[in-house]
Amino acid sequence: MDRLYTFGKYLKKKFKTNVKKVPISIPGFTCPNIDGTVARGGCVFCENESFSPNFTKERFTLNLNSKENPLLQKQITALKEQFFNTVPLLKKYYGANKFIVYFQSFTNTYAPFETLKALYETALDFPDVIGLSIGTRTDSITDETLQYLEKLSKKHEIWVEYGIQSSNDETLQKINRGHDFQNVKETIKKTKDLGLNVCGHLIFGLPGETQKVMLKSVDDTIELNIDSIKFHPLYVTENTLLALEYKKGNFTPIDEQTYIDTLVKSIKKLPGHISVQRMTAGSENLLAPQWCKNKARQMSAIHRALRDEGIRL
Ligand code: SF4
Repeated sequence: MDRLYTFGKYLKKKFKTNVKKVPISIPGFTCPNIDGTVARGGCVFCENESFSPNFTKERFTLNLNSKENPLLQKQITALKEQFFNTVPLLKKYYGANKFIVYFQSFTNTYAPFETLKALYETALDFPDVIGLSIGTRTDSITDETLQYLEKLSKKHEIWVEYGIQSSNDETLQKINRGHDFQNVKETIKKTKDLGLNVCGHLIFGLPGETQKVMLKSVDDTIELNIDSIKFHPLYVTENTLLALEYKKGNFTPIDEQTYIDTLVKSIKKLPGHISVQRMTAGSENLLAPQWCKNKARQMSAIHRALRDEGIRL
């Protein structure tokens, strides 16, 4: 890639207007890697109640085979509130005219099918919504849900966002991911075979990974025929297993120079049709590394490094 092809550019080209994602966090949603279905405690970097007795995010016991969900009305109300509170800001600050509802927090296909259908269809009925982006794990999406999304994709812009993080199985074990890279390959193939758009997430700086291993993950991810990609550095937040390891001196976060160098090398590897949705990240509860605190500064350093390598922005 010699020109940074952002997701914003992709959307603008396709819809001829400013389109923005509206992030949504559905109360009551959890993750099979937290609730004991796959594992307990979640990925080492995931903030959840296992590491904080005071963590108050509401959970409910999912019964994936039941149509009963006592929280559904509450979830729909939260979806509406979050959407209608966020959209005016996106219009004001970004001049957005159309929207993609982004089911972001936890595992957004891990609920009874009827619940998912009700939430997705509510979102698609909002004004000026052109589609959905659904964040999930590759071991937590059923064929029924995929086929339903394929039907939706005939009329709407539908994206499935999978956390890949690394293609290295040893790393996936170390971070308590709960699935291997083979599972990632199989699920993404199935999703692509249905013609759905796929975005893959990768994390740089995972425990024990050298730059060579990180760049191998990029190559393996490109091989999956994805349509878009998100990169971010592994940062440490409170209420995570990683925070405990960091405080004991067992984990050293990636430094900014290595992160940016790995990112630039990764972007150079991307074929022109893969859009980039994210190049960095930070958190309000950040413990380390401190360079992740200031996103604006990070972005200008990344842009400078890309330009220095001859990549047009
Ligand atoms: S898959 Fe996501 S929600 Fe689940 S434990 Fe890992 S980071 Fe947390």
